[in-house]
Amino acid sequence: MLEVNVDRCIGCGECEEVCSFGAIAVNHDIAVVDQDSCTMCGTCVDTCPEDALTLERGDDTRKASDLDAWRGVWVVAEQRNGELATVTYELLGKARGLADDLGEPLTAILMGHEIGERATDLASHGADRVLVVDYPAFATFTDEVFGNTLAYLARQERPEIILAGATSMGRSFIPRVATVLETGLTADCTELSIRKEDRALLQTRPAFGGNLMATIVCPNHRPQMATVRPHVFKAQPATTSPTAEIINVNIPEELLKSKVKVIESVQEQAEGPGLTDAEIIITAGRGMENKKNIALVEELAELMGAAIGASRAATDAGWLPERAQIGQTGVTVSPKLYIGCGVSGAIQHIVGIQGAEIIVAINKDPDAPLFNLATYGIVGDVKVILPLLVKRIKRERGIA
Ligand SMILES: Cc1cc2nc3c(=O)[nH]c(=O)nc-3n(C[C@H](O)[C@H](O)[C@H](O)COP(=O)(O)OP(=O)(O)OC[C@H]3O[C@@H](n4cnc5c(N)ncnc54)[C@H](O)[C@@H]3O)c2cc1C
Repeated sequence: MLEVNVDRCIGCGECEEVCSFGAIAVNHDIAVVDQDSCTMCGTCVDTCPEDALTLERGDDTRKASDLDAWRGVWVVAEQRNGELATVTYELLGKARGLADDLGEPLTAILMGHEIGERATDLASHGADRVLVVDYPAFATFTDEVFGNTLAYLARQERPEIILAGATSMGRSFIPRVATVLETGLTADCTELSIRKEDRALLQTRPAFGGNLMATIVCPNHRPQMATVRPHVFKAQPATTSPTAEIINVNIPEELLKSKVKVIESVQEQAEGPGLTDAEIIITAGRGMENKKNIALVEELAELMGAAIGASRAATDAGWLPERAQIGQTGVTVSPKLYIGCGVSGAIQHIVGIQGAEIIVAINKDPDAPLFNLATYGIVGDVKVILPLLVKRIKRERGIA
């Protein structure tokens, strides 16, 4: 907790001024702390000219020997209906490098029902060990069963790092695991590396609305937990003769009980290719000007077999559905070709397209930031350029 040394405090109010959480108020020339609002960020401690503030972290600062008891890197293998999610392969590729840097084994945790054969896929993508937890209760997803089981395994085995996909499933149950284990979690990381001096996992992610990249560490607690969105890292090719240890794990019956009963799972039927797997994406931005003009994007997309994406401005305007939004609060994509039509290139959009191989920007403003990232740029009005592209492609293909 944050403590005020009343003998030193002069009631200058600097701490009150810098506290973003309204947790300090100067009362009768003494700083008074609202402990419920205090996030222990320490900004006030650094600011106080009289050194009157201290953070007492209680047993928060765990002994280095406790931290040393946690070893190894884990990847939570996400599967649905027996199919591994692509993010699992991508995480294994990244985690392999982290495990090598630490000199520790890489373990994949596979929870599901009748999914044993997927264990060899995990082995061929870099896992040294695969822990398979196979029970009927894992046939459908529930936070409780998956979360409590992962927390149980982590307590038993004490991994140093746990990585999971920032998918709808991961976002749902991984925070529960972090809470149960009383450790930190950094969501939506875009880069992960090891700080050699103290084996800390450096977890980088956009912060403050995407205006800066923050590198976060979890110095006093284990495991260090992070989620990563699909398509941020590249999967490594499979090896042909994997040599992983595959272990079937038995867990206590009570972990399989849940207050939630899944009655039915229904898969959403989207029209055209899905954004996250699309090789070509044509994105509509505010520069499309109105909903009617989206037809220009749709015509080009149909000709090129492309998926249609949107900036937040285009989804907020109701021109395209929210699921089409690309960027920080939308999906991350990594197509071979991305064409931005009337998209300015705000940082919150760009963080979602950095994995694209070729970026084409069409914008009437030659100073639009997207041109700085683009492989090719076309300065012009989308209402002129898009019909010209359609005409040219049709001519090349001999379509009238
Ligand atoms: C916390 C937070 C999260 C966010 N998350 C996301 C996100 O996930 N995804 C996202 O996209 N945004 C996100 N945003 C919003 C983001 O900051 C931008 O406001 C948004 O990306 C802008 O969309 P845009 O490029 O379509 O529109 P604008 O920035 O308005 O750009 C429109 C562009 O079109 C050009 N133009 C206009 N008319 C024409 C024409 N006739 N022909 C050619 N070009 C033309 C203009 O020159 C301009 O460059 C987020 C913002 C915040 C604060």
